[in-house]
Amino acid sequence: MNLNNATISELHQLLISKAISAKELTKHFLDRIAEHDNQINSFITVTPDIALEQAKAADRALASGKHTMLTGIPLAHKDIFCIDGIRTTAGSKILADFIAPYTSTCIDKLNNAGSITLGKTNMDEFAMGSSNESSFFGPVSNPWDNTKVPGGSSGGSAASLAASLCVASTGTDTGGSIRQPASMCGLTGLKPTYGRISRWGMIAFASSLDQAGSFTRTAEDAAILLEYMAGHDNKDSTSLNLSVPRYTAALSKPLAGVKIGLCSDYFKEGLDSEVENLVLEGIRELGRMGAEISEIELPHTKFSLSSYYVIAPAECSANLSRYDGVRYGYRCDNPVNLEDLYKRSRSEGFGTEVKKRIMVGTFALSAGYYDAYYRKAQQIRRLIKNDFISAFKQVDVIVGPTAPGTAFPLGAKTNDAVSMYLQDIYTIAASLAGVPAMSIPVGLSKGLPVGLQLIGNYLEEAKLLQVAHQFQQQTDWHKQQPQSFM
Ligand code: GLN
Repeated sequence: MNLNNATISELHQLLISKAISAKELTKHFLDRIAEHDNQINSFITVTPDIALEQAKAADRALASGKHTMLTGIPLAHKDIFCIDGIRTTAGSKILADFIAPYTSTCIDKLNNAGSITLGKTNMDEFAMGSSNESSFFGPVSNPWDNTKVPGGSSGGSAASLAASLCVASTGTDTGGSIRQPASMCGLTGLKPTYGRISRWGMIAFASSLDQAGSFTRTAEDAAILLEYMAGHDNKDSTSLNLSVPRYTAALSKPLAGVKIGLCSDYFKEGLDSEVENLVLEGIRELGRMGAEISEIELPHTKFSLSSYYVIAPAECSANLSRYDGVRYGYRCDNPVNLEDLYKRSRSEGFGTEVKKRIMVGTFALSAGYYDAYYRKAQQIRRLIKNDFISAFKQVDVIVGPTAPGTAFPLGAKTNDAVSMYLQDIYTIAASLAGVPAMSIPVGLSKGLPVGLQLIGNYLEEAKLLQVAHQFQQQTDWHKQQPQSFM
């Protein structure tokens, strides 16, 4: 079997049948990172010692029969998840030397299940961006074409999987940061319902929107990972106190009778015509497989970008106030007084995009402007949420494009904030409403991957995964890989 396109479930079979050891598998991916990552810059930190130590433990667990589906599976984690003793940077100079003193709940659960940590992946600074070009550690290239962006902000996690430098990876999605890079790198990306996975130990960007999720080769692998990552956590008061379903159990149900909603607002100006054709063809395929397709309306979706770019900066301005140069993180040289210490540590430690958002957020929250901006944005958010609530009375899943185009050239949008923000035009509404959503490969346009977005009702990850899995039984788009990394 070619290890470079194998799924979690295939590798699990190899591991339990002793066809390969966790140590061999781990070495295979560490060697690939050493050989190939210089072309794409997808890792900020590689952790070979920890990985090999975990592989030893995994081999012992496999030998004794006390294993899970994830025992011995090599993963890469977005560098936004704290892991005890490992540098955790959030892609920022301000945390460039920060060694986390604890492990985030989500990674802890994956570790406890016996998975292997290969390293920490590159990302836009504090997860702000759509192209992975705002990282202090340099941009990430798309493995399909290294002159193009991988999408962002979880670009390193997406690129590392597309280049087969890991078996699956973790990411976070605040407004599209799992789905958009999954679309651009030809992967299955899942953002679960807000609160489904604990945020504890995940460096905060916009707390009412941030949600952890995964990049995988298949919907089946996404279901496997979610079973381990999800669940209530006393340390995160927004995590949902509900039992975790067996997502893998629902995958094999056929699509007959599943109601799929199509929103014409998702197919208006701004959408690349080839992307549109591939997405529509993907939807027709779902119809041929037995799904019932009907039109739905999401009348307030058109305001989602405006609402998001008030709420996300407002929350980030509060969350990022903790980086003061005093407690941890970067501190400027020779401060003359406390004010100078704050000012220069933050001016020197944060990059341009982060500073811009802190300023916008502080402005939106300031007395006299709060009602006009922040309150208004929250009211719009409620209307967007209500749109989804009524749409999901008619349909089970809403489908459309994930991103308006395919991967764009590095540097093409770095000086055009609005055009960069528009990358998330189709993904942000689900984040504001807190509903689960995913992106799955639906074709190639001029050799670059295109994603189909599936949005589900609250806690209906199983339904999304079922639709995605059934689609992947009929199509091969998720099996396509970039030539130079096969
Ligand atoms: N691109 C969006 C932003 O820059 C979303 C980022 C994200 O989901 N983390 O805010």
